[in-house]
Amino acid sequence: MTGFYAGFDVGGTHVSGVCIDRKLSMVKGGRTDFPDKRKKGSVMKDISVLVSELCDGEKISGIGMGVPGPVRDGVMLWSCNSRFMEKTDFKKMLRKWNSNVSVDNDVNCMAFGEMTERKVKNLLAVTLGTGVGGGIVIDGRIHNTRPYAGEVGHMSIDPHGVKCTCGARGCFQEYVSTRGVMVLSMKHLSEKLAPDRLHYMASRGDRAAIHVWEDYGKLLGTGLSNLANILDPEVIVLGGGISGAFEMFEKEMNKTMKKRLHMKPPEVVKGKDDAVAFGAACMAMKA
Ligand SMILES: [Zn+2]
Repeated sequence: MTGFYAGFDVGGTHVSGVCIDRKLSMVKGGRTDFPDKRKKGSVMKDISVLVSELCDGEKISGIGMGVPGPVRDGVMLWSCNSRFMEKTDFKKMLRKWNSNVSVDNDVNCMAFGEMTERKVKNLLAVTLGTGVGGGIVIDGRIHNTRPYAGEVGHMSIDPHGVKCTCGARGCFQEYVSTRGVMVLSMKHLSEKLAPDRLHYMASRGDRAAIHVWEDYGKLLGTGLSNLANILDPEVIVLGGGISGAFEMFEKEMNKTMKKRLHMKPPEVVKGKDDAVAFGAACMAMKA
């Protein structure tokens, strides 16, 4: 059996894709950023163009796609950060290119890919970006039989805390997403700077930016401790744009987890680039 597997990561602001062979090596990839004013029609067109670029004229044996919300039968049911894509039937769309199609929540895809590559059986994947998502692997199986499982971003870490985009208060997401970083930026630098900028400043020794990431590590460590207490994973893999600043918040995150957990804390690592697209392709391979 020859042929490649294509995997796509549909995010709130971009779509990226990879093509891998059966040995999990990447053969090609691509990415398209959506325009600032996103509309469903133009976004779907951008996605189609990238799928064509990677799949047309290739021996494709399956296509996988990760989308930013819970999925049932290939339809994204809900997305608090990408409302414009809700109720889209991504499976139907991909069938134009191939009959072997799998669509799942983006973080489930990432968790599946990391499990496949790291050869572990119990793993938690958490993405840190515009929103915060979770993917759970227990005994070598992705926990996706119920569409809303793994929505770790909406676990509350403060019942009287800030209001989340979902309407509830104190959600983990509001503290460790891009919005959470900006709140810390306001506290320490009196201006709302983006995570990338704060990462750069902290790496150059800016004390205020370093404090942002220390506070961030404590908040992240608190939420990850709750999850570790429930799931006891062998490894926690972090993805999403903010995970790029991993070395800036790693120390405080680990310290907090050590303080809060009565068992040896799980290893927390940064995931691979293109983890969602890679995992989506792995899912198509196993389908
Ligand atoms: Zn929430």
